[in-house]
Amino acid sequence: MKFSDYPTNVPKLEDIQKDFGALIDEFAKATSVQEATKSIKKIQAYGDELGTDITIISIRFSLDYKNKAISDANDYLDTIYPYISQLSNRFNQLIVASPFRAELEKTFGEYLFKMIETSLKCFDDSIMDLMAQEAKLQTEYSKLISGAKIKFHGETYNLSQMGKFTQDKDRETRKAAFKATTRFFEKNDQRLGEIYDELVKVRDEMAKKLGFKNFVELGYLKLGRLDYTAEDVKGYRDQIYREVVPFVNRLYKQIAKRAGIKSPKIYDLSQSFVDGNPTPRGDREYLVQQATTMYNEMSPETNEFFNFMVDNELLDLDARAGKRGGGYMTYMPRYKAPFIFANFNGTQGDVDVLTHEVGHAFQGYQSRDIKVPEYRMPTLEACEIHSMSMEFFAWPWMHLFFDEDKKYHLSHIEGAVKFLPYGVSVDEFQEWVYENPNVTHEERCAKWREIEKKYLPARKYTGFKYLEKGTFWLRQGHIFTSPFYYIDYTLAQVLAFQFATEMFTNRTKAWNKYVKLCKLGGRYPFVELLEHAKLRNPFIEGNVKKVINPVKRKIKELNKELFD
Ligand code: ZN
Repeated sequence: MKFSDYPTNVPKLEDIQKDFGALIDEFAKATSVQEATKSIKKIQAYGDELGTDITIISIRFSLDYKNKAISDANDYLDTIYPYISQLSNRFNQLIVASPFRAELEKTFGEYLFKMIETSLKCFDDSIMDLMAQEAKLQTEYSKLISGAKIKFHGETYNLSQMGKFTQDKDRETRKAAFKATTRFFEKNDQRLGEIYDELVKVRDEMAKKLGFKNFVELGYLKLGRLDYTAEDVKGYRDQIYREVVPFVNRLYKQIAKRAGIKSPKIYDLSQSFVDGNPTPRGDREYLVQQATTMYNEMSPETNEFFNFMVDNELLDLDARAGKRGGGYMTYMPRYKAPFIFANFNGTQGDVDVLTHEVGHAFQGYQSRDIKVPEYRMPTLEACEIHSMSMEFFAWPWMHLFFDEDKKYHLSHIEGAVKFLPYGVSVDEFQEWVYENPNVTHEERCAKWREIEKKYLPARKYTGFKYLEKGTFWLRQGHIFTSPFYYIDYTLAQVLAFQFATEMFTNRTKAWNKYVKLCKLGGRYPFVELLEHAKLRNPFIEGNVKKVINPVKRKIKELNKELFD
């Protein structure tokens, strides 16, 4: 069945309360473990159906936000979510207190019960108002950012459109573009600072109402981090500081020399080569055709999966009026179908969608037969392993997309390493923010600048007084809308490097390991999942060094090959 044939059913709150409510009552009345099991399975099936309807509406809304009927349906869903959460919460309370719990744990796995207990710890009717306030502030941030109108070279652009100018080959163009975007943040500095301050205070209050010391622990639990703590993450950041930061500093110098840039400034850091970064050859149709060839050749699993995606219209890749920005992957259980959304713009990023988002979708497809819905997808840091590793597994086919595939390889792997110090900075900053919820905006900015100097000494803000004050973090949306979800990309990167290194020497072995990881879905929390997939745990002292050394060698090797 093609995506265009999927029906749009708008779920009604009265029906949900009646049907879901009746299923919960049935579970509450179960007098045997068999009855309880049957009733849980019915609830899971109901959740899959309801979830599919909701997902279809949100996909269609993102594809065409000017469609009145879909937009109304989407607004309506926003109003009923808290009531759905309340119902789920009631079921969660019943299931953890069930007299048949021990037997149910054998059928559904202990981990499911741990997940449910965690979500109970993160929710209470008394924080519903705070949750609504948080959502409102997050929306205000997103609207402010996506509504940016930046005048540049006689035209008006939004921030993501400015991206191609801030990375332009021509130094004067990127400098001017960077100045223009910075001016937008400077103009909105006060309100952005206030929004963040309110968000921090709302989150801190939620945490305290739920019995936590501050938001740090609650933030971790909300992300389903059950087998590692903020202490483990701190140790991991220290490893990045020791093993990666000095290397990245040297790398920046080397790249600047290679790209012919003397005393590089903040707006130069995106440049890898004298003649610009590699750009794909061809439009969307051409790239999808090349991707089909690539996935056909890559493995029987990817061949079946990618044809399924193309045949059923599960990729919407073109940028067009009325379509939301950005990219994502989502999943519809009724059809066992992933969906990929993107906005192609003729840059290297288009190819990244065809490897990164496709990696996410590939995992969704490999886990489609897992019966317990909660086990189909792991926590977010683990999800990024699927996508970031696929970027490397696609290396041998990059000549299908780029004239200079070796240059792509080099800028891809260098970019991945350069990202690590920035990623941990964003995390260290947030931890400090939530441990010190009552400081001023200026104090937050000073702290950010201090952290930047520690991890990112190559960042020089000469000529940008405003950024010198420590305000770069205001443009990192995750800090506002997804607290503590950023370190995930760096953790996943360290895992993806392990697949890459193994792939360089034994592709079959690495690939089989990868497929196994994808098929495991979300059966285990993060660290346990790594053990099952035989991957090095980045929290263990010494492991970052072991993972990063072969990557450093690969970068040297590629540089030699290309430039010696
Ligand atoms: Zn991703």
